[in-house]
Amino acid sequence: MQISELFYSIQGEGLLAGLPSFFVRTSGCNLRCRWCDTPYTSWRSEGSAICVDEIVRAVRKHDTQHVVVTGGEPMISPDIKSLTETLAGEGYHITVETAGTVFEDISCSLASISPKLSNSTPWKEEGGKFADRHESLRDNASVVQSFMDRYPYQLKFVIDTADDMVEIEALLAQLHNVDRSRVLLMPQSVSKEQFAEKSHWIAELCLQHGFRFGTRIHLDLYGNTRGT
Ligand code: SF4
Repeated sequence: MQISELFYSIQGEGLLAGLPSFFVRTSGCNLRCRWCDTPYTSWRSEGSAICVDEIVRAVRKHDTQHVVVTGGEPMISPDIKSLTETLAGEGYHITVETAGTVFEDISCSLASISPKLSNSTPWKEEGGKFADRHESLRDNASVVQSFMDRYPYQLKFVIDTADDMVEIEALLAQLHNVDRSRVLLMPQSVSKEQFAEKSHWIAELCLQHGFRFGTRIHLDLYGNTRGT
């Protein structure tokens, strides 16, 4: 697998925030979010080839039953099925973080789906050369529904302005059996200062819409650094 980094850290986001977890970060993404916080897995994809057995050996060295497979977009990795099935066979709880644009039947304990809103489209970055492809791929309700139907799930949305709520409600209206307590709103931020600036009005939106406020504990603990 093309791997950007393997590390052991505190899970910063979502329903399992706070849990010590081992992270497998794949490299490569089919999207190009303008505010991507891991551009070394998307805009300037880097990493090295590491086989599934070696990854599993790295996981075993740490005292946790929780593995987070993230990216990049792990669902475009050819070995995602093999990795998740091997980890599941060893009894690990597997969270897979995905933008919800590609579905495959994998082993997954929690599908952490983060559909990308129009605030992510890179109209200006690199002359806008990725914008059309990003726009055509980012919004795929049927793939999101496939994850929700198959696995326990959470839906995480990165919020830039209050106007984003219109898009979120439009997407949720296309889905069925949405548990709003599993819908999280997270401030778009790459520092704890940015996170704090947006937190109060986003918390208000959570109160109005019945969604969960999404933490980003790793920003508080470590800042926007690799391996966290
Ligand atoms: S989907 Fe994730 S990894 Fe890919 S460009 Fe967007 S934020 Fe970055």
